[in-house]
Amino acid sequence: IGPIVSVYLQVWLAIEHITLSDTPDQLVWRWTASGIYSASSCYLATFQGSMTCFSWKLIWKNWAPPRVKFFHWLASQDRCWTADRLARRGLQHQPRCPLCDQAPETMRHLLLECPFARQTWHEIL
Ligand SMILES: [Zn+2]
Repeated sequence: IGPIVSVYLQVWLAIEHITLSDTPDQLVWRWTASGIYSASSCYLATFQGSMTCFSWKLIWKNWAPPRVKFFHWLASQDRCWTADRLARRGLQHQPRCPLCDQAPETMRHLLLECPFARQTWHEIL
């Protein structure tokens, strides 16, 4: 079966139980019980199927000083000026982490993977 025939059969199966009537067509908004469009229901529909993430609480609702919260927020958005971000913008950057000289400087490397960071976390924890 060719692709056009296949689509034709799919349409046929989708509409075979539909009967047409003389009543005028009516637009129904499926995201409200009344079927009437509202901007708020449209806004809520954009989150349909998404998962709620409470990482903002981890960043903003804690005892850390505001500058630490802000840095945490920048790091979570990957918006700190690490070498990989400088490279993406075509700006001058160091090819490797200046602390360990073992890997490219990324936010993940600086905070989690760099031996200096791991040693720091080990000392703190
Ligand atoms: Zn490093």
